[in-house]
Amino acid sequence: MLFRQMLDRQTSTYTYLIADLEQKAAILVDPVLEQVERDLKQLAELELTLRYCIETHIHADHITGTAKLRAVTQCQGIVPVGAGVDCADRFIQDCEHLSMGSIEIKAIATPGHTDSHMVYLVNNTHLLTGDALLIRGCGRTDFQSGDAGILFDSVTQRLFTLKDEMLVYPAHDYRGFSVSTIGEEKRFNPRFVGRDRQQFIEFMAELNLPDPQKIAEAVPANERCGNISTPDYTI
Ligand code: FE
Repeated sequence: MLFRQMLDRQTSTYTYLIADLEQKAAILVDPVLEQVERDLKQLAELELTLRYCIETHIHADHITGTAKLRAVTQCQGIVPVGAGVDCADRFIQDCEHLSMGSIEIKAIATPGHTDSHMVYLVNNTHLLTGDALLIRGCGRTDFQSGDAGILFDSVTQRLFTLKDEMLVYPAHDYRGFSVSTIGEEKRFNPRFVGRDRQQFIEFMAELNLPDPQKIAEAVPANERCGNISTPDYTI
């Protein structure tokens, strides 16, 4: 398996490129509109055909690159079921598997940051945790149908129950981290260590974070698969 982590500096967003080198087939998870040229160049250099763009959730801080990538490569856009996105080619639900050659991806429903958030387990070793679980942190729960209690349940019951060696690759990092493990996060994630569900809810309610700069444009654009020019785009 080829596995690459790529950063959008402006929004501290990680996009993941996963590929089967025998089939020369690739998947992008959480592509960013402003990085589409970078991603296409990477695919061309590695002689990979993009088969799927997959979202962990509808993002509030950046616009997805899926519409643009789909227009160029004819890849399929996959979003979590229940995300309210009509333009997707396919919806993925809890425990559903997506296979591509030697790549096996399992969706794990992990609501809380948004109500339809998915984590993706790749080949039973790499866990793409989206904004459910960040390295020593977690996604916010104060907009987009977020719910702190539900996020606590998702992380503690569905992610912290996975094997300790599982590699954790989040959708964002703001402090320079790139990868962690489930074992590390269980021991050192300050949002969860020493807090029960009620204490976590109270802690999250007191964060008082400012809205992301792009929320007003990003959420509606992402509900159109990242198409920013024609709101009725429905292929
Ligand atoms: Fe998010």
